[in-house]
Order: sequence, then C-alpha cells, then structure tokens
Amino acid sequence: MPHQEMTTESAANPFETAKQQVDIVADLIGIDPGVREVLKHPKRELTVNFPVRMDDGTYRVFTGYRVQYNMARGPCKGGIRYHPNVTLDEVRALAAWMTWKCAVVNIPYGGAKGGVIVDPKKLSHGENERLTRRYASEIAPIIGPEMDIPAPDVYTDSQTMAWIMDTYSAVKGYSVPGVVTGKPISLGGSEGRGEATGRGCAYVIREAAPHAGIKVKGATVSVQGFGNAGSVAAKLLYDEQGAKIVAASDTKGGIWNAAGMNPHAIEAHKQKTGSVVGFPGAKQVGNDEILEAKVDILVPAALENQITGRNADKIQAKLVAEAANGPTLPAADTILYQKKVTVLPDVLANAGGVTVSYFEWAQDIQGFFWPLEEVNKRLEHVMVQSYADVHKVAQERHVHNRTAAYAVAIQRVADAMKMRGIYP
Ligand code: GLU
Repeated sequence: MPHQEMTTESAANPFETAKQQVDIVADLIGIDPGVREVLKHPKRELTVNFPVRMDDGTYRVFTGYRVQYNMARGPCKGGIRYHPNVTLDEVRALAAWMTWKCAVVNIPYGGAKGGVIVDPKKLSHGENERLTRRYASEIAPIIGPEMDIPAPDVYTDSQTMAWIMDTYSAVKGYSVPGVVTGKPISLGGSEGRGEATGRGCAYVIREAAPHAGIKVKGATVSVQGFGNAGSVAAKLLYDEQGAKIVAASDTKGGIWNAAGMNPHAIEAHKQKTGSVVGFPGAKQVGNDEILEAKVDILVPAALENQITGRNADKIQAKLVAEAANGPTLPAADTILYQKKVTVLPDVLANAGGVTVSYFEWAQDIQGFFWPLEEVNKRLEHVMVQSYADVHKVAQERHVHNRTAAYAVAIQRVADAMKMRGIYP
C-alpha cells in the first residue's frame, strides 16, 4: 500500500478481527455457544511448501495456503491471492469472510481462501506459470467442483485460473472447467465475471444511496485502489449513474481533481504508464487524502486495515462501499456508525464477484452458457435482494450494516449447521 501507516492497528491481525465480528453478532442474535465456537474456527487448513524452478536455473521454495472455513451450506468457495505479506491468519480471515459473503447473497456455498507468499510482480511469466501449476498440484487433493472452487483475488487473474484448471484437468485425465471460476471465456468462463465485483458494488451503492441521503447523479467519489474492482465500480458509477470521480489511487500514489475525471481515461493512462499517477490535470495526493477526501462516496478497493480507530473520525464520505475485503476495523465501524456514515460492508459490497462465480460454476456444470444480459440481470436481482435483506435487519435491530449483514449470514450458516447436526 502507498504511504500506509504501520500503526499497531494497520498491522492488526485480520483473523482476530474476523473472530471479534462473529462474537458481536453471536451476542446480538443469540447463537448457541457450541455453534459460535465452530464459527470461530476454520474447518480445514493446508500449508504447502513447494519448489519452483526459476529462469536462471536455481530453485526457490514458496509457501502457500488453502483454508476451507465452513462447508455447511455447500462446497467451499473463494479466491487465491499472491502477495508478499500473505499470512495464514490473513487467509483464515479471508476464508471466514467468504463464508459470510456467500451466505449474505444466499448462494449455495461455504467459504475458503488461498494464498501464496510471493511478489508476482517480480516473477517472469514462465516463473508465474510454474509457481501456479505447482501450487495447484499441491492443493489438488482438496479442491474440485464439489469440494472447493478457487477464483482470482489480489494479483491473480483469468490466466492464473486457466493454468489451475489445466493442471487439475491433467491430473484427472479429463477437462474439469468447474474446478475454478474467473476463467477466460474460451475455457468455460462466464460473460460478465471480469467486471462482476465492481458491477455488484455499483448496484448496492445505487440501492443504498437514498438511505444515505445521497443522489448518485452528481455525487463525488474517491476510489482507493484503481484495480479490477475499483476501476469497474468507478466506470459504472460514472457511465450509468452520473457520479463524479474526483479521486483515485493505486500502489504508486493518488490523484485528485475537484472538477471530476473520466475513469476510462484514467484506466487508459494506467495501462500506458503503469499507474494512475501523472494523470493529466490531476494533483498528486497521498493515501490519507484519498481516504479522508471530502466526497459523498468512498470506495476502498485495495487491501485490509485501511479505515482504523485512528483515521475513522477523519472520514468525510457519507457512504463507504467496501469493494476490498476487510478494509475497515471494528473500532472504526463504531466511529463511522456514530458519525452516521453508511458503510456497505465487504461481504455485501464486493459479493458481485462470487455471485457471478456461482453463475459460472452453474454454467460449467450444465455445459450451457448464458448471454451477458442474463448474467447481469441475475446479478442485479441478487444484489438488490441482498441489500434489502441487510437493510431490513439494520433497521429492525438498530445496528450498522456490517453487523446486519453478518447477522443475516451467520443465521443462515447456523441454520444449515443445525439441520445437518453434529457427526457422529
Ligand atoms: N476473490 C473474490 C472475493 O473475495 C472472488 C471469490 C470467488 O469468486 O470465488 O470475493
């Protein structure tokens, strides 16, 4: 992250955050103590240390994880992240959040996550392919269309998924497109998956705006992390809802222009130069100015631990839509709620990605593919319904949207666990 303050909080352990969030909701909705304990533990964890042949002929050993958090509601689902700061506790937290996310949008999955400790920007294409294929073969015993279905996450993409699909299929001896989602269309990917996270985020912003006292048309927007999720959300808010993008950032820095910027032009600039920085007509700003910008809508679309007990008070946006996973710490949630900032939590705001992953998996299993209009129509329906479910609980229980989303999700997971019972 650019200019990230390494405060105690910004170094907070995300799995501790994830467990705290479960406790808050279990107290609120009265979950059985035994079920609560189960919900605070990952079901299955795999650590793999594996060698990769580098271009210069040497070998390096990399460490990767796959955590299957809970499968009460169906096969596990969740992305794979390549990042130098990946830790087992981070993967556990992300796997827990996937469990709640799939339950909030009511798709028939549990949650999982994978990660490899690596800076993929320092790998050649060939090294990345060999690392991906070896990691895929190491986790192959526990993935599969009926068990656990990976997808892209931070610094992995449709090419990564194509390699995993091919490696898994080679091991099986036949093509298994349903083993991963977020694949290229030519290998059984779904129309609309590439932009689904940002599109889902734009839909929930549209739904929540009236309750947050905002008109999206003309509203000012700051996007932290102009990557896959953030750039798409920005483009759709601009194209389809008439919002004004005044600030954006990536790992190299941030840009600001009060007159508004065309997100398509920002994207073209980023493609050409490798960063949003230097965008014509914009002033260069730091990460704090992106987060604390005086805007109507803030979209954190980068990494965890961005809005903390230390900076929450300085957030000026009326609506925060979490396209990233885990950008807000529990202490900050309380402050934002007191300040009457509407937060659309990650498990709702970025759930469009996994929702279209579900559509992709369903299409792969049927071998029958849908046109883009159908994918987007079904996505919109899921996002509108999920926002309504969360908003209703938030109103009824006088809690913020994160607690409400968790209440919806945890109740659904707990119900499934109860019906299934404890074996033996
Ligand atoms: N990595 C994405 C997420 O955090 C997508 C997961 C998926 O499609 O399975 O939601």
